[in-house]
Amino acid sequence: MKVVYHPDHAHHDTPIVTWVGVPIHGDEPPARMELVRDTLAGLGHEIVTADAHDDTILHLVHDPDMVEYMRTAHAEWQRSGYQGEPGQPNVTAYAFPTEKMLHGLPLRRPRSRAALAGVWAMDTTTPIGPGTFRGARAAVDMAQTAAELVLAGAPSAYAACRPPGHHAGRGFFGGSCYLNNAAVATETLIHGGVGKVAVVDLDAHHGNGSQEIFWRRGDVFYGSVHVDPAEGWFPHFVGFADETGADAGIGCNLNVPVAPGSGDDEWLAALDRLIEGVSGFGPDVVVVSLGVDAAVTDENSPTMVTGDGYRRAGGAVATLGRPTVLVQEGGYDLETIGGLVAAALDGFEKSSA
Ligand SMILES: [Zn+2]
Repeated sequence: MKVVYHPDHAHHDTPIVTWVGVPIHGDEPPARMELVRDTLAGLGHEIVTADAHDDTILHLVHDPDMVEYMRTAHAEWQRSGYQGEPGQPNVTAYAFPTEKMLHGLPLRRPRSRAALAGVWAMDTTTPIGPGTFRGARAAVDMAQTAAELVLAGAPSAYAACRPPGHHAGRGFFGGSCYLNNAAVATETLIHGGVGKVAVVDLDAHHGNGSQEIFWRRGDVFYGSVHVDPAEGWFPHFVGFADETGADAGIGCNLNVPVAPGSGDDEWLAALDRLIEGVSGFGPDVVVVSLGVDAAVTDENSPTMVTGDGYRRAGGAVATLGRPTVLVQEGGYDLETIGGLVAAALDGFEKSSA
C-alpha cells in the first residue's frame, strides 16, 4: 500500500501540555510517525511524499477564521509577552465561553490573546507551539494526497499523519488534534466527484470533531467504535449510542461504545455492528480513522485490543469492498505503534486480495 508521508509534521512538537491544571509530558511526539514510516518502509510499503495544497478543501471543513487564528496564534502569543510572564511558551487557553455562559448572547472576539485562545480551543491539553500550524498543515496535505491517490484509481492509500485530527471540529480544536485530517480526506473525495463517503473511526476515543462536522450531512456517514464516554473517557460530552445525526444526516451517524476492558472479541463484535451500518449506507469510498490507541499496550485507553485484533479489524473494513483511504489518528505507545499500524494494513490488504 502507498504510504503518504511528509517530514514537516515534526515541526509540531509541544512536549509539555496542561492537564487538570498541571503541566505534564505530552505523548504525541514526532517520533510516533517516524516509527510508523520506518516500520512500514521496512515491510516493503512504498513511501510517497505528500503534495502541497491550497486551503480550498481545508476551508470546506473548518471555519476559515479558525485556520487563520491557528496560523498566527503563536506569533501573536509571543508578541503579547506570555512567554516571559507568566512563563508559558505555547498558546494555552485558560477561559472558555461555554454554551451556558453565552446562553444566546453574542460571542465576542476578545483582545487578550490568552482569552482569544478559549474561543477556538476546547481544552488545555492542545497547546499551539511555534511549529504547530506547519505540522498540522502537513498532516492535512498527507490526508489530502492519500485521498487523491484513491481518486486516481488506487484501491487504497494510507496517510502517516500527525498531529491527529478527529477531535477537531468546524470551529474548535482539542484532544491533541488541530485540523481534522480524515474530514479533509472525505471532502477531497466528495469534491473529486465521489457521491457517498463513510468514515469508519477505529480510534479508542470517539471522534467528536468528525461527528460534529458531518452531523447534518446525508452524503457522509460517520461511525465509531470507542470506549464508552459514560465511563469517564475523553471526549466525555459526546459519543453516545443515541446520537444518530440531524436534518439530512438523520441515520448517518452511528456510535458503538464499548465498556472498558472489552478485549478483542467484544471490540470486534462492536466493529461488526458498525460495518453492518456502513454497509447499509452504501458508501462509494471508505475513509478509516485509524487510531491504534485501543491497544492493550496503550495507556490512553482501557480497551485491551491486541495486534491480532487490529489485523482482524483491517480485514473487517476490507469486507466492505470499497476503495479506502486510511488516515492515522491516535496511538501513543512508541514500542508498538509501528507494528499495530502494520497489522491493521496487513489485515486490510490480505482480506482485499
Ligand atoms: Zn484516541
